[in-house]
Amino acid sequence: IVEMKGMNKYFGKLHVLKNIDLTVEPGEVVVIIGASGSGKSTLIRCANGLEEYESGKLIVDGHPLAPKGGNQKALAEIRKEVGMVFQQFNLFPHLTVKKNIMLAPMKVKSTPETVANATAERLLNRVGIGNQADKYPSQLSGGQQQRVAIARALAMEPRLMLFDEPTSALDPEMIGEVLDVMRELAKEGMTMMVVTHEMGFAREVADRVIYIHEGQIVEQGKPDDVFDNPQNERTQAFLSRVL
Ligand code: ATP
Ligand code: MG
Repeated sequence: IVEMKGMNKYFGKLHVLKNIDLTVEPGEVVVIIGASGSGKSTLIRCANGLEEYESGKLIVDGHPLAPKGGNQKALAEIRKEVGMVFQQFNLFPHLTVKKNIMLAPMKVKSTPETVANATAERLLNRVGIGNQADKYPSQLSGGQQQRVAIARALAMEPRLMLFDEPTSALDPEMIGEVLDVMRELAKEGMTMMVVTHEMGFAREVADRVIYIHEGQIVEQGKPDDVFDNPQNERTQAFLSRVL
């Protein structure tokens, strides 16, 4: 569903992604790990066109997105099909939880209000906060807000979900409830690319772990192989620091 081939990305002179070759199959859960500044966020932001890239090839769900912005039609299609959840929840503070979830389907897909309403209620139940629908984001805990953010992304019926450190801004006791929702999603077959420092989650849920160092994929494989028997010395050094 995602194909990156020889992809390069610069911020000015800084070469942030170097010759990235990465294919994600439908239903696959790929966890991306690496040190701060290694390019993890940039990599997954490229996967929904939030960042342009300079050279190489990127195809998302059959839509080729050319370098330097691609064409606007492909970009719009990709945005519709790819959901993203950030470290900061980015909910609309002036809308209730339910309206936050209803907004995009009604605006982007012209979903009728009654249908959007029913979908929002179903999704809120699914992430375990059906009783919070009429509250405002500021009235919820961080873990609850992040579950709203996940429900909001799911309301667009995405074919791919991107997560960029979804639990990094949460108090420790709220991390589990968000990881539980993500674990469920993975079980139901959602295709996911996840940047996280939660190595337990990565080991349990990932089909594949990718270690990125200074903009390059230096190692990838099944979680047990990468964690228990890393081949690259950079990966070994990184894991010895975080495990
Ligand atoms: P972290 O774990 O801290 O989130 P990361 O692996 O997600 O790090 P990126 O955010 O992808 O790293 O950043 C990769 C490199 O690109 C870093 O050197 C960063 O300073 C630089 N960078 C990121 N965004 C921009 C930007 N908008 N403009 C210029 N440089 C940027
Ligand atoms: Mg990042």
